[in-house]
Amino acid sequence: MTEEKGIPASSGYAVAKAYVYRHDAVSVIHEKIAAGEREKEMKRLDDALASASSYISSLISSAIGESERALYSVELLMLSDPEYIKAIKNLIDSSFYPAEWAVESATATFVDALEKLSDEYMKERAVEIKDIANLLLELLNGKSRKGIKLEEDSILIADYLLTSEFLSIEGYPYLKGLVLDVGGKTSHVSILARNRGIPAVVGIKNFAQGVQDGILVAIDGSSGAVIVDPSRKVIYQMMDQKIKDEEKEKRLYQTVKGPSVTKDGKRILLKTNVEGLDGIEPTVSAAAEGIGLFRTEFLVLEKGFSSSDDREFVYEETARLMKDKGKVTFRTLDIGGDKIVKDSNSFEQNPILGWRAIRFSLSHKEIFLNQIKRILKASKYKNVRIMFPLISSIDELDEALSVLQEARRELDEEGVEYDRDIEVGTMIEVPSAAITCDLILEKVDFISVGTNDLIQYTLAVDRGNEKVSYLYQPMHPAILRLLNYVVRTCHEKGKIASICGEMAGDEKYLPLLVGLGFDELSVSPPRILPIRAELRKLSSDDCRTLLNEVLSMSSHKEIEKRLKEFRDERRTGDKE
Ligand code: PEP
Ligand code: MG
Repeated sequence: MTEEKGIPASSGYAVAKAYVYRHDAVSVIHEKIAAGEREKEMKRLDDALASASSYISSLISSAIGESERALYSVELLMLSDPEYIKAIKNLIDSSFYPAEWAVESATATFVDALEKLSDEYMKERAVEIKDIANLLLELLNGKSRKGIKLEEDSILIADYLLTSEFLSIEGYPYLKGLVLDVGGKTSHVSILARNRGIPAVVGIKNFAQGVQDGILVAIDGSSGAVIVDPSRKVIYQMMDQKIKDEEKEKRLYQTVKGPSVTKDGKRILLKTNVEGLDGIEPTVSAAAEGIGLFRTEFLVLEKGFSSSDDREFVYEETARLMKDKGKVTFRTLDIGGDKIVKDSNSFEQNPILGWRAIRFSLSHKEIFLNQIKRILKASKYKNVRIMFPLISSIDELDEALSVLQEARRELDEEGVEYDRDIEVGTMIEVPSAAITCDLILEKVDFISVGTNDLIQYTLAVDRGNEKVSYLYQPMHPAILRLLNYVVRTCHEKGKIASICGEMAGDEKYLPLLVGLGFDELSVSPPRILPIRAELRKLSSDDCRTLLNEVLSMSSHKEIEKRLKEFRDERRTGDKE
C-alpha cells in the first residue's frame, strides 16, 4: 500500500481499479522480426491505417471552419498515398522491420525528400506527414486516439486530460474517480468532475507513469489522498465515510423548502452552473432558483461544431424545463484556454492569454451569430438571459452587442418568435473589466463575476498549473478589493451583483460573499444544498462586520485565519 497527496479537486470517496491513460511518446523498437512474423505486422499496419483514416474523417466532420477542414482533408489524402504505403510495406516485407520501425523509417525518408524541395507548398507537407506518422505510431502502440473506454468501475488515472477527452469517455457511468498529474481546483476538468459529483484529485505530479493498470486504488477527493493497493482497513474506513456523507446529504434536502435567505432575512438568489441537460435534474431537485451559468462550450467540446441541431434542442429544452423555476443564463462559447477542441489545429504558446471566449467568437462571426440566434429562439419561454465571456474592453462588448443586434434583425426577417426584452450581460473575469465595470454596466442589464478567471488574471497564476497553485489565493487582498468595488458599483448603478466562480460554492468564503453584498450566487449542482444550509445560519450584519475587518488585512493567510475563527465562533455559538 502506498499513499500520495495531490490537490483535492472534487470531494467524495472511491475505491476501484485503475484505468491508466497516458499521452506520452510512443516507443519504437529497432529490432528486426522473424520472417514468419511479417504477415502479422502487415495486418497490424493495415488495421492502424484503417483506424487512422476513420479518425481523420471524424476530424473533418467536426472541424472549425474551412481552413481546418482543408488541412485534415490533405492529411487524409496523404494517408492513402500509394508511394508512402508501399515504402512502409517494403520495409516490413523485405527488410523485416516491425511495423512501428517501418513507419518511422519510411516517414524519415519522405520528410527528408520533401524538406529538400524548393517548392514552399511541398516543403510544408512534411509537417502533415509527421503528424500522420505520429498517429500511426500511437495506434500501433495500442494507445489509440479513440479515447477512453471504461468497461468496469474504474478510477481514471491520467497524465493530463482535455475537457473534450473527459466528455467523450465511453462507458462514463463506470467512472468512479479521477486522478491527474496536472491541474488545479478551478481547471475545467476539475469543475466538470465537481459538477457531476465524481471524486477527483489533481496536480499529483508524475503519478500516472508509476501506476499499474488494473491495480486497486482508493481516493479521498476531500483531502487529496490517493492510495494504491489499499489495505482492507482503509477500504472499510472510506466506505464508512461515504455512507456518512450520503446520510448528511439526505438531511440537507430539508433545506429545499423555503427560499435561500440569511437568518436575519437577507434574500440571496441561489442558482447553479451546468453544462448540459444532465445538470437540470439535480438543479430542479435541489430547488435551485435558476441557472446562473450555462457553459455552452461543453456541448461543442463533446460533440463538435457540426452538432448545431443538438445544441438548439438543448437550449430550448433547458429553457422549457426551467420555465417556472427560474432564469437560465446561457453564456456564449468560451472555447480556448484549457478548453480546446480535441486535436484542433489551433496551437498557441499561451492559450490562457490568447484566442479564447469572446475573442474566438468575434473572429468566427458565423458561429457566433448562429449561436446567438439559437439562444434567442429558446428565449420564447421568457426566462432566458444571454451572457458574454471574457470581455476585456468596451470596444469588444460593443462588437458583441452588434452581433446580437444582427441576430435579432435576422430573426425578425425570418419571422421567428423570441423575447424582445431578453436580458444581456457579461462575465467579469478580467481585471480590466472589473475596474471598468461602471462603464460596462451602462451597456448591459447584468454582470456575473467569474472568480476562477478573475483570480488567475489578477494574480498572474495559471488556474490549471499545479506548480503555482500555492499562489492561487481567492483571499488575496487584491481580489477582495476588486470584488468589493464591483459589488458596490453594481449597487450604485441599481443593478444586482452576481457571482458564478467556484468560490461561490465554498462555505468557507460564504460569510465574505454575504458581507460584500452579493445578491446572487451560482454554484455547482452538488453545492446548492450545503450553501443554502450554511446561508441560513449566517447573519448579514455579522458578515458585514467581518468584511470590514478583513478588508484592512494585508495577507491572505491573515484573512483565512480570521475566517476560520469566525466559523469556530459561530459553531460554538450554535451549540450554546
Ligand atoms: C469563471 O471564470 O469564474 C467562470 C465561471 O468561468 P469558467 O470557469 O468557465 O472559466
Ligand atoms: Mg471564466
